[in-house]
Amino acid sequence: MHEFELIEQCFARSGYRRNDVSIGVGDDGAVIQVRDGFDLVVTTDTMVQGVHFFPNVDPRSLGHKLVAVNVSDLAAMGAEPCWLSLGLTLPVVDNEWLKAFAEGLSETADYYNCQLVGGDTTRGPLTLTLCAKGIVPRGKALSRAGAKVGDYVYVTGTLGDSALGLKVEQGQCEISKKHRGHILQRFHYPTARVAIGQALRTIASSCMDISDGLCGDLPHILKRSGVGAIIDVAKIPMSQALKDSCDWQQALQCALSGGEDYELLFTVPEDKRGSLEVLLSPYGVPVTCIGRITGAAGKLELRHLDQPFVYHHSGYQHF
Ligand SMILES: [Mg+2]
Repeated sequence: MHEFELIEQCFARSGYRRNDVSIGVGDDGAVIQVRDGFDLVVTTDTMVQGVHFFPNVDPRSLGHKLVAVNVSDLAAMGAEPCWLSLGLTLPVVDNEWLKAFAEGLSETADYYNCQLVGGDTTRGPLTLTLCAKGIVPRGKALSRAGAKVGDYVYVTGTLGDSALGLKVEQGQCEISKKHRGHILQRFHYPTARVAIGQALRTIASSCMDISDGLCGDLPHILKRSGVGAIIDVAKIPMSQALKDSCDWQQALQCALSGGEDYELLFTVPEDKRGSLEVLLSPYGVPVTCIGRITGAAGKLELRHLDQPFVYHHSGYQHF
């Protein structure tokens, strides 16, 4: 069998079939029926071996992560994930690797009701690119641009677990058996907060997902919205696993500068705060208020129990 046929076969078994896909994989392009009254949201993420993942990483988790990080961007826009296209660059065709990667990708696509509708394969250094498309009711997409002075700053879930997971995988840190499973799960199998993103459409004034740590990402909202923020580092939610595994300073560094949490960071006007708890209670994911938006454009001020908190953010810079 020709190797490109083999690749096609690996992805053909993808389970979930959407009834709005008229033509999927196998033609020159996909044909999709986009619902009336909705906007299309499009996002792309690339993962390069040696930059975004280790060469020996389980291909199944890689397939999962590639889908989850893209869907997380759709969640941050308040969109419902729908369709995926895959750009796959492979040094060699390794049947076992490909099968496990395709399975991880398909399982996660199914989980989020997404269908793989096309893609392209080339030879080269291992690089995975996914383009995810979703829909949102016309004019209702969330963005980074709407935060206003006085709004409250919230995050979903807990921060820093994934950064600790990376340290564990790099052998920089030992953690107890009790917490190892949770921490590595958070690093290899992140969850996109899709349902919460959609629920936030009527409440949040701005939203994004945290992929580069709170201190790396919040400035994007501040810049796009033309505002500042005061964050109380004592309020940043951290898991028991993270708190038990390192001292407070290290845990805080994971939460502030560590990457790949894929939690949502959003702002809520004062008059919408009351509905937040009720609206989000069905999802079983905690949300925590960590600070407020100020008029000091572009300025992120950290405090610890009302005292200024000095912290030097050293996030990952791609270029
Ligand atoms: Mg993002």
